[in-house]
Amino acid sequence: MLIDSHAHLDSERYADDRAAMLGRAWEAGVGAVLAIGIGEGPAYMHEALGICRQFNGQPGMPRLCASAGIYPHTTAEADDAALAKLDSLLAEPEVIACGEIGLDYYHVGAPHAIQRTGLIRQLEIAAARKRPILIHCRPKDGTSDAWDDLFEILEDHWLPTGLGGVMHCFGAGWEQARRSLDLGFLVSFAGNLTYPKAQPLRDVAARMPLDGVLVETDAPWLAPAPRRGQRNEPAWVVQTAQVLAGLLAVTEEEIASATTKNFARLFRLHPDVGN
Ligand SMILES: [Zn+2]
Repeated sequence: MLIDSHAHLDSERYADDRAAMLGRAWEAGVGAVLAIGIGEGPAYMHEALGICRQFNGQPGMPRLCASAGIYPHTTAEADDAALAKLDSLLAEPEVIACGEIGLDYYHVGAPHAIQRTGLIRQLEIAAARKRPILIHCRPKDGTSDAWDDLFEILEDHWLPTGLGGVMHCFGAGWEQARRSLDLGFLVSFAGNLTYPKAQPLRDVAARMPLDGVLVETDAPWLAPAPRRGQRNEPAWVVQTAQVLAGLLAVTEEEIASATTKNFARLFRLHPDVGN
């Protein structure tokens, strides 16, 4: 069984076939999916939880859990009401993580200082609710600016909680991977690991310890190599897992079992996490 540790199941791109899409994931061996609750901004961050509740318990479907969080570029909307909503979502048993939150200095959007403040306020809420965090970090090309700021914030505001988290859709170098592991984070690889030009990322992945990795789709984005450019879906996490298994010189069964164990350990779930 595989776990897709990051998928935007609430995307409107699944409006017409969400149940069938989840059924295909189950058929492909995906036992659980973490549905990311950021929506198009805080007004929509409850929608991933709604999808969990809609589908959990139905036969032939992966088990779904959810996150809630305010994405870096919508942190300008992180007012007291939005943060109160986040807090109440994190109190729900299905909402096992706060995210994706972090810093994005690549795209033009919320000013960097607003992003940092929004991140720190969410860290405080996640810590009080004892929820691990899902980090989105994207520096300006050719720099590590967002990573440098991120590690400074996490060392001050998150490391003391001991709760850990996930570096989602990891795309940085070994230095950032090593620092993430040192902070007690798991490093999650997405479909971009399979792209022809991603050899530097594959070189980083090949150095990872088996107990420090996850796989994800980031669906509907980042479809893996054979289907690049198409709408992605959780069933296709299999391709990324195959590539990661090859890099770590383990079998596909071993990568599935390791990533499932890592996920269950981080989120303190019963090891039999899939349905
Ligand atoms: Zn995402």
